[in-house]
Amino acid sequence: MTFGEFNFDDRIQEGLEAMGYITPTIVQEKVIPQILNNRDVIACAQTGTGKTAAYLLPIFQRIITSESDKLNTLIIAPTRELAQQIDQQVEGLGYFLPFSSASLYGGGSNVQWDTGKMALRKGTEIIIATPGRLISHLALKHVDPSELKHLILDEADKMLDMGFHEDIMRILSFLPKERQTLMFSATMPGRIRDLARKIQTEPEEINLSVSQLAEGVLQGAYMTYDQQKIGLIKHLVTGKQLPSILIFSATKKAVKDMTRELQKLDFKADEVHSDRDQADRGQVLRKFKNREIQILVATDVLSRGIDVEDIDLVINYDVPQDPEDYIHRVGRTARAEQTGVALTFITPKDQHQFQRIERFLDMEIRKFPLPQHLGEGPEYKPGKSRPGTGSYDKGKPSRDNKSHQQGKGKRMNEKKGNYRGKR
Ligand code: AMP
Repeated sequence: MTFGEFNFDDRIQEGLEAMGYITPTIVQEKVIPQILNNRDVIACAQTGTGKTAAYLLPIFQRIITSESDKLNTLIIAPTRELAQQIDQQVEGLGYFLPFSSASLYGGGSNVQWDTGKMALRKGTEIIIATPGRLISHLALKHVDPSELKHLILDEADKMLDMGFHEDIMRILSFLPKERQTLMFSATMPGRIRDLARKIQTEPEEINLSVSQLAEGVLQGAYMTYDQQKIGLIKHLVTGKQLPSILIFSATKKAVKDMTRELQKLDFKADEVHSDRDQADRGQVLRKFKNREIQILVATDVLSRGIDVEDIDLVINYDVPQDPEDYIHRVGRTARAEQTGVALTFITPKDQHQFQRIERFLDMEIRKFPLPQHLGEGPEYKPGKSRPGTGSYDKGKPSRDNKSHQQGKGKRMNEKKGNYRGKR
């Protein structure tokens, strides 16, 4: 699927191109049509899944087609950091759009408060805010939400964890009842569903689930020690008719080392990670797509939104931290009814993590023996590697130890205070 299929306004498309987004992520594929359809949405999606653009893009489209220039959209985030990240995506993706946004978060100086106030006085279509700061502005009537059309709660579970339930309800008391409400949450505990029941109308629930894994993927795994991994890569790729191979690793160092090794063996290999800029990455990807590069080695910077079909083999050089990451990585093969193979290397310390993935997928992934010349690999005994830790809850991907390498969008315009003025 391409972004073109959403028929966004050309200026949104330009923003996407400028940010280097080529293909929608899974969350974007699922969420965007629902929002364009005016549905309330509750989506289980973590940071790193492309959730921000999933709600920003359709909302931009709705604002463009709306007549009013009053406050249209309120995005609430639990922390200043998240608010800033959202703000950056609004700036980047919305660079060519004729409306303005303001961000209001606590912890800043008086100057920030004044800039926020000034932005609100000038009028703004989008506000990104943390709850406390927003309530202050609402209470002082700096904000007129009477024509608000969209409310977004980002990282809703974190908001509840941080004790913002009452604040959220207070904010809602200022807003029109007739509106579209979107909730994004990394986890979906009962409290989130309760909140959804209170503030949403027949929401469409979107979960990134196992069904996202294309049926044609043959999955397998090898138990290895770290020092056997590179040998195993060589064994797997040498002398095979595999024109397109994608290897994922969590660390930039492993990506770089592996690429060097493969190049030494005369493979056409190249690498993608966050040390390379968007232009560089784009070029490498193009070459990979055109089959000028056979093996692409990448961090998770690439696991989402890459539009390359017919990948024959995906190798997870290490076990992804999250079952969702696994699905994203493995989902790169066997797209569009193709068949593909996805192999994961499991070291003893990763066994437990791999077991979580198997539980999430509700299947046992076949473990292959190592080729003889590499010697014996470890045994797969996940229960024994960390006793008593078999309590993974399917609906709750862990937030711990996340190793996402997020490809930050380029900042497109110079920021003036916390106000992005009309263009
Ligand atoms: P988020 O989950 O919204 O925090 O996004 C994670 C990162 O992925 C951000 O740095 C985005 O700029 C990037 N991103 C979002 N959507 C796409 C896409 N379709 N293609 C490439 N990168 C994306």
